[in-house]
Amino acid sequence: MNDEAAKYLYDMSEGRADMKVLLGGKGANLAEMKRLGIPVPDGFTVSTVACVDTMEAHGRWPDGLWDDITAAVARLEERTGRTLGGEKPLLLSVRSGAVFSMPGMMDTILNLGIGDETVHALASEADNPRFAWDSYRRFLQMYGDVVEGVPPHVYEDELTSLKARRGVAQDTDLSTEDLQELVATFKDVSRRELGRDLPTDPLEQLRGAVDAVFRSWDTPRARVYRKANNIPDDLGTAVNVMQMVFGNRGDTSATGVCFTRNPSTGEHELYGEFLVNAQGEDVVSGIRTPRPLAEMEGVLPEAYAQLRQTMHDLEAHYKDMQDIEFTVEDGTLYLLQTRNGKRTAAAALRVARDMVQEGVLTREEALQRVEPSQLDQLLHPAIDPQHGRSPVTRGLPASPGAAVGELVFDADTAAERGGAGEPVVLVRYETTPDDIHGVIVAQGVLTAHGGMTSHAAVVARGMGKPCVAGASAIRIDTSEKTLTIGDAVYHEGDLLTLDGTTGDVYGEALELVPPQINEDFEAIVSWADDVRRLGVRANADTDEDAAKARELGAEGIGLCRTEHMFMAADRLPAVRRMILAETEDERAAALEQILPMQQEDFEGIFTAMKGLPVTVRLLDPPLHEFLPDLVEQSLLVQRLELTGGDAQELERARVLLGQVKRLHEQNPMLGTRGCRLAMLYPEIPDMQTRAIIRAALAVREREGETVGVEIMIPLVAYASEIKAQREIVERAVADELQAAGASLDVTIGTMIELPRAAIVADQIAEHADFFSFGTNDLTQTGIGISRDDAEGGFLTHYVTDEVIPSNPFESIDQDGVGGLVQIGVDRGRSARPGLKMGVCGEHGGDPESIQFFENAGLDYVSCSPFRVPIARFAAARAVLKGERRADG
Ligand code: ADP
Ligand code: MG
Ligand code: MG
Repeated sequence: MNDEAAKYLYDMSEGRADMKVLLGGKGANLAEMKRLGIPVPDGFTVSTVACVDTMEAHGRWPDGLWDDITAAVARLEERTGRTLGGEKPLLLSVRSGAVFSMPGMMDTILNLGIGDETVHALASEADNPRFAWDSYRRFLQMYGDVVEGVPPHVYEDELTSLKARRGVAQDTDLSTEDLQELVATFKDVSRRELGRDLPTDPLEQLRGAVDAVFRSWDTPRARVYRKANNIPDDLGTAVNVMQMVFGNRGDTSATGVCFTRNPSTGEHELYGEFLVNAQGEDVVSGIRTPRPLAEMEGVLPEAYAQLRQTMHDLEAHYKDMQDIEFTVEDGTLYLLQTRNGKRTAAAALRVARDMVQEGVLTREEALQRVEPSQLDQLLHPAIDPQHGRSPVTRGLPASPGAAVGELVFDADTAAERGGAGEPVVLVRYETTPDDIHGVIVAQGVLTAHGGMTSHAAVVARGMGKPCVAGASAIRIDTSEKTLTIGDAVYHEGDLLTLDGTTGDVYGEALELVPPQINEDFEAIVSWADDVRRLGVRANADTDEDAAKARELGAEGIGLCRTEHMFMAADRLPAVRRMILAETEDERAAALEQILPMQQEDFEGIFTAMKGLPVTVRLLDPPLHEFLPDLVEQSLLVQRLELTGGDAQELERARVLLGQVKRLHEQNPMLGTRGCRLAMLYPEIPDMQTRAIIRAALAVREREGETVGVEIMIPLVAYASEIKAQREIVERAVADELQAAGASLDVTIGTMIELPRAAIVADQIAEHADFFSFGTNDLTQTGIGISRDDAEGGFLTHYVTDEVIPSNPFESIDQDGVGGLVQIGVDRGRSARPGLKMGVCGEHGGDPESIQFFENAGLDYVSCSPFRVPIARFAAARAVLKGERRADG
């Protein structure tokens, strides 16, 4: 954009692809196509600025906007040689167009300008009265619905009943007279609904239509879609006003939708659908089932050839897969829209990789064409290929992946039950954009009607939700809530499985298997490795997790917790003996028993990770976690007292109860845990250190190679704590190495997980070889919330009510907790330049948080093994700082 002040209105010839913020994706791309010499009907775009100004003025249009529009209409009349409402009528489409595409979420009005006189002019000009009356009834229907708020079924019901009376199945089977009758009926029912006639003056209609598009920005479904896709609410929509071209002018006319590659698989092949003698929404709404694009070659060969060429040109121009709308009017092709196509995760990877191979994109560019969330989707389960069951029916494979859930018949029920965490499968005759809130929470969607480009399919693919569309053999009775497939009748709550990859539907719940990571996935993630700066480690406590992490590309373990080693059933008696010990000797004896068990665990993990660094965190939770629950133990004692049972047993229970009481804390999260525990019982870190060193040496002995040993002290608040703990650990290390006559590099660091630790990080850094930000606890202590209490309660409301933008345990609270991290980084490195720092909270696997950690200057992130590929990828994205692209 140049620095000229933004205008309210731009003629199509003034626009360009990079003007999306102003013209919306649709308007900018239409202008771009016009610039490229691709046939696009002429028109103009009312900018998003006009919509935003109107919203801010609570619906009042800014001064001058209407004058701009009437002047633009006059210019368009002049260019086309037609007039609105005139003898050679100009008909218009009025289309919404947001900066980020929201397919089907907002409104369009076609054939505007048609009326009782113009319909005749149109009929004689085209020498096709049927077409003219078809356009008229479509206009009344759309205008009544979109602008005047007449419920759409009012018109649909009349159309359906007329078809029934005529005994025909398709709209196209209705005659001119039928359509004339329908126009009269539509006027009547509109009057009945509104208490007045629909406006007949074309300019008045235009004003109403533009205003309706402004308002459609704020419909509930548009809001839900934006929330689900992280699109800001204040961008507003542009309004595109264009000359109509007519796909419903008979058998040499058509309308269709196509993708330059397969948006489900990414394969470079023909993908699209069209309908002869139809208008725009007919294809996507699923009212008539469209034909595969390849068949167009036989029907409209010239237009088809030109379309194929245009598809190729557009893809080359945008360097991305395009999603295209076109119309053929009497043999002549027009393009009505192009945008970067929404695609499944698998397709996104395939397209990105292929385009690098084709020399269209660089690797860096390709990385920016994939979203971290798409990698995430591919890490999700699919139907077990060994299931051996037969499908009960089959539809179109509209969006891949497997869904298992209970059958529900409407979006509200889906939203309610799915929102409560129950797995549901939404089954609809066809979905409309109003179903979006149900689709979002459903496991998958099944429709009886509609093709691969229906709204249900497009929305589901964008969300990575399995969808089987156009399963025409199913019968749905929404009032009885039954789904009939052949002889079988299913009711609400019955289990179904959908395979969106094949289109198969199963009348039962099938087993799912973990996803497979394919070559595209591996290629993209390995390119990311070349770009990223942050190291990626995994949080793993067992040898299995460690092996998995390594397989997925982890460069070490950033957090190996040791408490589960204490919890295992065979360890617990020894652990309890240690806790309950009356004397140091008793405790030492108990620890002596635990040590080899710990060592064995460490050996397993170290073997899996040999050659890589492993950060072992010393014991963190409060001791009472290893003892019975206070209430239960009290009840046990009471029961034994009442039944007068075995005296010895009673005595043991009482002693244990005493211990439980002694160790009980009101607020254990803030109590005697982490290094506080180790300060009271130095024997514990001593034992753990010895087990670590012995394990590392044993693995080196056996495998010829061992891990980089990093010992981490948890919950440090004071420099004196780490100083004391470090001495204990160092002494044990020295002891063990001397006894073994060996040497080994060991580093000793700390968690930074308390606000005080972040603030005095310079003091702590004096005694630490590394920092690891424990952002889970830092979030709890930094914001002052207990996760277990908050996530089931107020925090959920905070997120839903937008008091805060997201759950701070999922994505780091950048201003607050992130601020503490930044203080910790800066102060720590001020005392020890180059001090190694990482993060080991769950945030280490969250792409947005990773972007923050990249900027904060951390050295690595550590996350759960399954998120390692996502973290590797997100770390590269953080370097490329790929701004979100407006996608048309
Ligand atoms: P959406 O954003 O929901 O796709 P569009 O604004 O693209 O809505 O319009 C919906 C349909 O209307 C398009 O598929 C297109 O076929 C049809 N349409 C829009 N403008 C015109 C036009 N000028 N001439 C003919 N058909 C049009
Ligand atoms: Mg469109
Ligand atoms: Mg912690």
